[in-house]
Amino acid sequence: MPFTLPPLPYAFDALEPYIDARTMEIHHDKHHQAYVNNANKALEGTRWADMAPEDVIRSLGDLPEEKRTAVRNNAGGHVNHSMFWTIMAPAGKGGGGAPTGAAADQITKAFGTFEHFKEEFAKAAGSRFGSGWAWLVARNGAVSICSTANQDSPLMGEKIAGCSGTPILGIDVWEHAYYLKYQNKRPDYVTAWWNVVNWPRVNELLAKAR
Ligand code: MN
Repeated sequence: MPFTLPPLPYAFDALEPYIDARTMEIHHDKHHQAYVNNANKALEGTRWADMAPEDVIRSLGDLPEEKRTAVRNNAGGHVNHSMFWTIMAPAGKGGGGAPTGAAADQITKAFGTFEHFKEEFAKAAGSRFGSGWAWLVARNGAVSICSTANQDSPLMGEKIAGCSGTPILGIDVWEHAYYLKYQNKRPDYVTAWWNVVNWPRVNELLAKAR
């Protein structure tokens, strides 16, 4: 079965005023759709076409070399965005506030305080040159921050992505994620984004990562 674009779990304008409706519409309907289409094109007729996209990007090294870059970028983009939509929710209706439960415990253990975690995460998001992502990953019973270029995912492993683990939170810092509203002010986008982080979902992903 080819990959399909998952519907947004809320309306385009649900994350206003932190993320504007037009950005969400273009980001989901055009950018994510293009990753889905291009990944399907690259995998068509191969034995990877029926695998879950997460499993495909976990084993990029098995792919024929001429397919690898297209799959890395586009199946990577599909996996990253499929997660990104779910770890956000409208502010005050599932989005924002402080982490709870196991996510709160792990973050406190690794970073001391939620405030310090946010500073470190914003640093990773801000210092990623060009396009990419900042992540909170679960690995060996702990959480840590890392960042990847382009559409690389920690699931691709250290050798390819430069970091590894199971992503439980991630922010897209491609300009397409924020430029209409924030222009060159990526730090303002990152600051606003905390208002729509869906911590209950982060806890679900953390539980699954164990
Ligand atoms: Mn994106």
